[in-house]
Amino acid sequence: MIGAVDIGGTKIAVGIVDENGHILAKAECPTDVPQGFDHAMRRVAEMLAQGAEPSGVKLQGIGIGCTGPVDPIAGTLGNVNLLPGWEGGNPVEKLSAEFGVPAAMENDADAAALGEAVWGAGKGKARLLFVTIGTGIGASVILDGKVYRGVGECHPEIGHHVIDPSGPLCSCGARGCWESLASGPSMVEWIRTHAPATQHSLNLSAKVICARAQEGEEWARRAVEREGYYLGVGLANLVTLFAPEAIVLGGSVMKSAHLFLDQIRQVIRQNCGLVPFERVEISLASLGPDVGLIGAAQVWHHHFQPRRG
Ligand SMILES: [Zn+2]
Repeated sequence: MIGAVDIGGTKIAVGIVDENGHILAKAECPTDVPQGFDHAMRRVAEMLAQGAEPSGVKLQGIGIGCTGPVDPIAGTLGNVNLLPGWEGGNPVEKLSAEFGVPAAMENDADAAALGEAVWGAGKGKARLLFVTIGTGIGASVILDGKVYRGVGECHPEIGHHVIDPSGPLCSCGARGCWESLASGPSMVEWIRTHAPATQHSLNLSAKVICARAQEGEEWARRAVEREGYYLGVGLANLVTLFAPEAIVLGGSVMKSAHLFLDQIRQVIRQNCGLVPFERVEISLASLGPDVGLIGAAQVWHHHFQPRRG
């Protein structure tokens, strides 16, 4: 049994996960960033202990997924946008000492990717990309069961590769990166400049735009078409660059995947003539809303009981 911890900017989820990726118990609390890192770790330890206690479970280890950047080797938090003041905190050391078991951490995108790679839609795929499209675009590369890392063990930012250099400026420094063109907020931003003024005051979100498109509203359909095109261009780039066995898609925007998939496949067919794109499986994440927790548990297995690819 692995204790799983998923640390996000608004909430922290904790669970007990068995060796097949099933959650036996779970709990969550607000992250409450201003209370500080140590306070949060005390709450995590309490929730883990309470989760394990009723069934008499002895934890074998603790796996952690955390919004990044994090240092997966040292176990420390970097300068995380969503966790101001927590930089340098080390959840791996804290929780390992508290429970007397080994612990490991990855950023949450890599954790979710590992979960999907072993227990979800990417099962059995040695060369796998996992892409999350929501507030931002995150992507992870899993090669032979291992998270691909860059220099200094960094997490490459595939969501920020440039699609259109004349596009909007992003906080990454580039203009027209994939996230700036195809994230959920970028759909809303496009509506503000291209939809009839009557729509601007609405409480718009990618979800609302997709629902309006389903109802046949022309302005929303155009936004969905544009989104499908830019998702397709980014994914086609990944197909050409990696020619992976599969790309698994997750995140809140992909809850409306049926609106985008035809166009994504069409762009891939058109752009990827030099690689066997028809053998690249494009599938949807299958672990559902608990993917963060399930992935966090897999982080522990990835560090301490690696599978061969
Ligand atoms: Zn960017």
